[in-house]
Amino acid sequence: MSQEIDIENEKPLHDKKAFSDLGLSQFLLEAINKKGFENPTPIQAQVIPLLLEKSRDVVAQSQTGTGKTAAFGLPILDNLDESAKHIQALILAPTRELSLQVCQEIHELKGQKPVRIVAVYGGDSIGKQTEQLKKGAHIVVATPGRLMDHVKRKNIDLSRLNTLVLDEADEMLSSGFIEDIEWVLSQANKNRQVLLFSATISAEVLRLSKQYMQDSVVIRTKASDKLDSLTEQFYMELNHRDMLDALCRIIDVQESFYGFVFCQTKRDVDQIYDQLMHRGFLAEAMHGDLSQFQRKTVLTKFRRKQCSVLVVTDVAARGIDVEGVSHVINMGLPQDAESYVHRIGRTGRAGKSGQAITLVSPSEFRKLTFFQRKEPKIKAITKMKLPEVTAILESKTKRIKDRLEACLSKTPSEISKQLAQELLALGEPKAILEALIEDVFS
Ligand code: AMP
Repeated sequence: MSQEIDIENEKPLHDKKAFSDLGLSQFLLEAINKKGFENPTPIQAQVIPLLLEKSRDVVAQSQTGTGKTAAFGLPILDNLDESAKHIQALILAPTRELSLQVCQEIHELKGQKPVRIVAVYGGDSIGKQTEQLKKGAHIVVATPGRLMDHVKRKNIDLSRLNTLVLDEADEMLSSGFIEDIEWVLSQANKNRQVLLFSATISAEVLRLSKQYMQDSVVIRTKASDKLDSLTEQFYMELNHRDMLDALCRIIDVQESFYGFVFCQTKRDVDQIYDQLMHRGFLAEAMHGDLSQFQRKTVLTKFRRKQCSVLVVTDVAARGIDVEGVSHVINMGLPQDAESYVHRIGRTGRAGKSGQAITLVSPSEFRKLTFFQRKEPKIKAITKMKLPEVTAILESKTKRIKDRLEACLSKTPSEISKQLAQELLALGEPKAILEALIEDVFS
């Protein structure tokens, strides 16, 4: 039997409820406070009390950015018996990135409770993960394939789970993990609580819930329950011919830039990309002329941060969701206010801050004020000055120092040690360092 709770048309629950109303223990309230969460999001206000009761299975429709990780993570942490040494909760996630993100979030929420959380995912050494699991884990966050490997090797025992979470279930199903998920569900003890979180509740998701869940509650939320965007908006007024220089300065002045540069046309994309490459930036370009395969390759590179600037047209960037984007730069204004909102929404996601900077020509400036009047989501757009050369130099110096400090904390290989000896024989250490800096960083 299943019950449906639809919070689609309700007022945001965070207007009414506080975390302290949800029945969570004091140590979690302290951790929540430390994390800076003020009020529960709608999905948290619904799901947390239900899960604390332990008695029902839950299907929750919620997207990334709605606070879903804490919605299941907090009750898991509250119910967990840290003195027991077995695995009590398993969270299945479709990707390595999401597994790590979930692991990190739960780690930050556990507060003083001595809970061990281990993430296991493909593409990483299985031996290292085995070692971590052998030290003991209360919560495991895993991608399906790698989890199966560990269960088969008897590194993971699912026979005493209290809670099993399927995170981004629709994504896991569309990635072809259905057989793996069913295998995992069949290995776990029968009286565990199953929680299924999914952005969409497709027929396939419902079938899975009917087959493996009992007495479930279905909770539906809407996209606007996402946490407010944390994007700060700026504009800079300049002539077209000065825009490329401005773009380079904006990128250079940041400690770490990871962002989209939006252009109007494919030709603009190609030109800006060529210029950025010419000036030594790690850039990639994407527009409608690229094949599906080329687009996928470019996106993978960007997602893996092998390049930090992705130059795109609106069409090429449609539907793309990349975590942790720090900046969106508009090389001129898009056609309409809606596209502007869409573009800048790629940063400031998931509780992280971001900046959107729009470069406008004097003739476009009026269109920007028109966008502002038309679209309430475009709140304050602050005028910004072109970054000064001194600020760029400061930022560059800091980047070099940070990188060097990080390098110094690593143990050098024998080859590096020997090479250092040989290089030191070439001259004064200061002169050698100066030459190296010039060569690598200029
Ligand atoms: P999620 O939907 O789980 O990916 O969470 C999105 C982001 O929102 C994460 O960075 C969380 O740390 C943050 N977050 C979760 N719950 C809250 C809350 N109640 N208030 C503010 N931020 C939150």
